[in-house]
Amino acid sequence: MWLLLRQGVQPQGVLAWLEAQGLGIQLRSLGERWIIEVEASDGQAEALLRLEEVEKVFISERAMPLVSSWQGGVQLGTWQRGEGLLWIAGPCSVENRESLLRLAEALKALGVQVLRGGAFKARTSPYSFQGLGPQALDWLREARALTGLPICVEILSETHLPLYADVDLIQIGARNMDNYWLLRAVGELGRPVLLKRNPQATVEEWLLAAEYLLLYGAPWVLLCERGIRTFERSLRYTLDVGAIPVVAAQTALPCIADPSHAAGHWRYVTPLALAAIAAGAEGLLIEVHPDPLTAQSDAAQQLTLSQFALLKEKASTLAAPSSRRLP
Ligand code: PEP
Ligand code: MN
Repeated sequence: MWLLLRQGVQPQGVLAWLEAQGLGIQLRSLGERWIIEVEASDGQAEALLRLEEVEKVFISERAMPLVSSWQGGVQLGTWQRGEGLLWIAGPCSVENRESLLRLAEALKALGVQVLRGGAFKARTSPYSFQGLGPQALDWLREARALTGLPICVEILSETHLPLYADVDLIQIGARNMDNYWLLRAVGELGRPVLLKRNPQATVEEWLLAAEYLLLYGAPWVLLCERGIRTFERSLRYTLDVGAIPVVAAQTALPCIADPSHAAGHWRYVTPLALAAIAAGAEGLLIEVHPDPLTAQSDAAQQLTLSQFALLKEKASTLAAPSSRRLP
């Protein structure tokens, strides 16, 4: 079980008490707070809760002490949490240097705070475009140097870790949400992570994946709802709008939505984006391509720049959701 100590309390007193009881312990720092993992039986929880320094006791195997008590700060480019939406935009795959640089400039001019782009792609067919790999990462770095925008890039394999050391926001895609050893390795990089929800995962499983990242060293995790698999086939996935307030009730970690991959078609991206904002999403991840018809992946769902500009305009007319839970 885990003991979460009250804000401002130092752990020495509790540690001494636990040691005197002969209980095995492991101490973890949680920013300004402390968590102690204790080898105690469930029956001992009541006694531990009586300790003045202890705020919460987590017993369940599926407890997520770090996710549920996380209260750190979030720093990402020019985005100020709580003062407007976070916009992450860019092509599904990075395909061409010139068009990436021009797109990055245009997105920045539209108020986007983070540039996204795929370098290594997870494609269903091994014959589909697999991404330009290190070349794409270099062009993204160039776009960052040109615009000052932080970059968000998906990682697919532990063997690529050395290539991601300077990526501002590392994306764990839907297919890897429950690749736990990849989560551990990415957490150890000590950088913020965008964690997409696996379409087959419950909210609890998604948050437990975030727990892995925090436990292994990520300072914070940006949760991203991107649609789940249901019986409905009219869109590519079903955007689980309800998950957004559920997540906000369970953690102070920020949560955004990706309506592009949920919709699978540009026509439905804007309505889903607006629904997500209304439900309390703190930002959006939108695929934008200078010429979607020629895109080598996800051509049907990518917005043109003018469609994206229109979406931003519509979004700005929505009142900021009041249910947002901030640290
Ligand atoms: C992506 O963001 O390009 C992507 C592949 O998304 P997902 O993991 O949600 O399918
Ligand atoms: Mn895509």
